[in-house]
Amino acid sequence: MSKIADFNELHWLLAILQSIDVGVVVLDREYRVQVWNTFMENRSGRQPHEVRQKSFFSLFPEVEEDWFRYKVESVITLGTPAFTIWEQRPYLVRFKNYQPITGQEEFMYQNTTILPLQGTNSSIEHICLIIYDATNVAVNKQQLQAANLQLQKLSRTDRLTGLNNRGYWEECLQHEYARHRRYQSMAALVMFDIDHFKRINDGHGHPAGDKVIQAVAEVVRKQVRDTDVAGRYGGEEFAILLPDVDKAGAQRFAERLRQSVEAIIVSHEGQAIRLTISLGVADLSEMLEGYEQLIEHADQALYAAKLGGRNQVRVYPLA
Ligand code: GH3
Ligand code: MG
Ligand code: MG
Repeated sequence: MSKIADFNELHWLLAILQSIDVGVVVLDREYRVQVWNTFMENRSGRQPHEVRQKSFFSLFPEVEEDWFRYKVESVITLGTPAFTIWEQRPYLVRFKNYQPITGQEEFMYQNTTILPLQGTNSSIEHICLIIYDATNVAVNKQQLQAANLQLQKLSRTDRLTGLNNRGYWEECLQHEYARHRRYQSMAALVMFDIDHFKRINDGHGHPAGDKVIQAVAEVVRKQVRDTDVAGRYGGEEFAILLPDVDKAGAQRFAERLRQSVEAIIVSHEGQAIRLTISLGVADLSEMLEGYEQLIEHADQALYAAKLGGRNQVRVYPLA
């Protein structure tokens, strides 16, 4: 190749180096800057003549020196490239994020490549650091994760009450039952149903009925502990799973709940609505064939409470 062609090629390579949208830095064995392209200039606000021969670590004090040296030395020793990715290390050098769409992020997420550069005598005296702006990818991924989390939450939640819906609540019960089988852990179940709810609907209208259901859910929320799992089991039926609680504890909890509901007054269009609930309690001290049987037991106790005159707690097995 002629000298002119060589020179042309070098000229082109320089033009490309300056215009590509990645950061390019060449460092010598003392970590002094040798090459600094336009991307680096624009993002750091420092011109090439300001940084030439300066230590990379003095320019970017945020870089963990021991870690980076270790990484670069292995690139030189092995003669193979090394990489960093934003998921493990959000950035190597801290640059402000100027991207308009993803402007809510303060800094630029980065992927980087560290390349060994062979000299004419084939020894490696320099490394090339390439910095890719990964902010868009990072922000998209994080937004997707947040949206998924939100969706998951919605798919587990009952719209009217904000309690767990039946599907998710049963999943939790299943887990608790499996835990019991493995570790003989204790757990109790309280199920309850609003008394004469049809009368409330008929007398005050369906929206009033909804308001009553919400008010009851609020009472439940106030009474349960963080580890308890409360769910809306059906229309005006609720179920509360109490991990590590025995029958007696669950009975006390149920009785407190009964009294709290009895005490509330729901006002709707100027009218005061009072209500009561009937509750059934069961726990895992009985031999069960499956978690469904715990629901059956609590339901039988609930049914007995209805038969017994409502506004009361009954415990399985029924005396
Ligand atoms: P009991 O004391 O025997 O429980 O009498 P009840 O009238 O409460 O009888 P039941 O539990 O069978 O009544 C359920 C009623 O709840 C029937 C249904 O119309 C109403 N319902 C179910 N879901 C909703 C809801 O989301 N909102 C409203 N307002 N009513 C509902
Ligand atoms: Mg009812
Ligand atoms: Mg019912």
